[in-house]
Amino acid sequence: MNAPAPVELIRQHLIDPEVCIRCNTCEETCPVDAITHDGRNYVVKVEICNGCNACISPCPTGSIDHWRLVPRSQAYSIEDQFSWDELPAQAELPADAAATMLPAVDETLQSNAARSPSSANAPWSAAQPSLQLFTHKSPLNATVAGNFRLTAADAEADVRHIVLDFGTHFFPLLEGQTIAVTPPGNDDSGRPHTPRMYSIASPRSGEREGYNNASLTVKRVTVDHEGRPARGVASNYLCDLKKGDTVQVTGPFGDRFLMPNHPGSNILMICTGTGSAPMRAMTEHRRRLRAAGKALAGRLMLFFGARRPEELPYFGPLAKLPPEFIDTTLAFSRVPGQPRAYVQDRMRERARDVAELLAGDTFVYICGLKGMETGVLQALQEACTLAGIDWPSLHDRYVNEGRFHVETY
Ligand code: NAP
Repeated sequence: MNAPAPVELIRQHLIDPEVCIRCNTCEETCPVDAITHDGRNYVVKVEICNGCNACISPCPTGSIDHWRLVPRSQAYSIEDQFSWDELPAQAELPADAAATMLPAVDETLQSNAARSPSSANAPWSAAQPSLQLFTHKSPLNATVAGNFRLTAADAEADVRHIVLDFGTHFFPLLEGQTIAVTPPGNDDSGRPHTPRMYSIASPRSGEREGYNNASLTVKRVTVDHEGRPARGVASNYLCDLKKGDTVQVTGPFGDRFLMPNHPGSNILMICTGTGSAPMRAMTEHRRRLRAAGKALAGRLMLFFGARRPEELPYFGPLAKLPPEFIDTTLAFSRVPGQPRAYVQDRMRERARDVAELLAGDTFVYICGLKGMETGVLQALQEACTLAGIDWPSLHDRYVNEGRFHVETY
């Protein structure tokens, strides 16, 4: 007599509906279109998902990284997942199942995902972040304490510094963390708007020290990536806010892109435009420590790109920081009469200083336009090669040790 066919198990990829902020990042990232959503939940089609992990690191909340062992014949359908308010617990498995379990994730795909250029770890000395204190189901209503234009009155870009007050709510934030803001109303298909993520621009002690508040750096979106007129829903909503308005906020998010806390650590910051938000937060935290008399041996080096000085957020305060506190190099791409310069061009000019910093106890942060990533990595490689440093092994070590952080869009 034939033995009964063994139960075939799979490792099913699922999204936690309690933590997910419906930002659509996973659906946009998935290379095989395995992720979809309705008005309620984001879900994974088990018959399409190949476990490539491409969606895992871009997810701002970690809600994407959930797995259940299930008999293939009993895998959760998307209809099951659409109905959930919370993830089901891991069910008990048939006694003979473990021996017949299939490898759920293709190992080649998994190792490719692990080679992402950004760190999977926080710096060893980073403070412990608080995460997801306010969720999609129970957001926080913050009050606008101020909304100030950062760019010059005649500048093309309207970049704003928006201060949110959390009142009596416990909402601790660390430099490098993000919060999500949900614009009110519905999109064209009648669904509520999805939350949008913004990096905190203020240090952990608050925009105004001792107050329970934080700031965001927001650029009013008036054109799409191709330069065609387009009105950014969330950015226009935020840029138009008045003092006293309330805003629906969730978070905090982010447990990797955090700054080191040990005083000897150097920080190399490379950013464009509003990608300066976390750099301002880190710089201001160090500035306050220094002003309080804390001994800080670590150095700060900043490469900051914008079209013109008038378009550079925080240009005035930045110019006032003494060079012995922060070594700043600006790159302007559209100053009439001057050749176009990008941050990577300026890094090449200062290759020796960049390499010297990289050889020490340094943590690298890259934030801003997606397009800058390749050029910046190339400039780092060139700086290392000129200094006789093996870039691939330094880069690998930096990534493994939580010293290399990239946030580009
Ligand atoms: P932007 O004004 O469009 O650009 C800033 C500078 O970067 C300009 O000088 C631009 O030059 C230059 N640039 C363009 N392509 C480049 C490339 N390939 N390499 C190096 N530099 C390049 O910047 P933005 O609109 O503020 O965009 C900033 C980005 O940061 C956005 O994608 C935003 O989503 C992201 N971000 C924002 C936050 C936040 O909390 N607000 C946080 C993290 C990231 P040209 O235009 O002259 O070519």
